Amino acid sequence: MKKVIFLDIDGVLNNDETFQQAPEKYAAGIALELAFINLELCSKVRRLVKETDAKIVLSSTWRIKQHVCQILATFGLVVFNKTPCRFSYQPRGQEIGMWLRKNQVDTFVILDDENDMGNYMSHLVQTNEATGITDKDVEKAIEILNRE
Ligand SMILES: [Mg+2]
Repeated sequence: MKKVIFLDIDGVLNNDETFQQAPEKYAAGIALELAFINLELCSKVRRLVKETDAKIVLSSTWRIKQHVCQILATFGLVVFNKTPCRFSYQPRGQEIGMWLRKNQVDTFVILDDENDMGNYMSHLVQTNEATGITDKDVEKAIEILNRE
């Protein structure tokens, strides 16, 4: 496998507006998890996938949810794999490290609004939780995935 995107959800695929609108959407009959993901922000990650041919590995705590892959598929995002689930808190960089030791990749990018990435900071595109992922973040991620 060549390129991987480690994907967080909260603060990447949703933003302040998503959280404000979620109760209303939920009340209108939209499933709870669907109400907490923003379609427009997902389309930015779809563009990243399309332009780099990278696979998505879910690193968000959402990965413990049983239906998370179906939820993301609803938004056009195909999840290839997930980082390992631990019972106690681990910095996300360590969870990503565990996955990387078992899977061979040429290059990877981490999309996350947090920065507990340890040795992998040079791979991080840190999003702003208020806005979620932006076009500028996508450009930066493309650059990281395309660098030698
Ligand atoms: Mg987050």
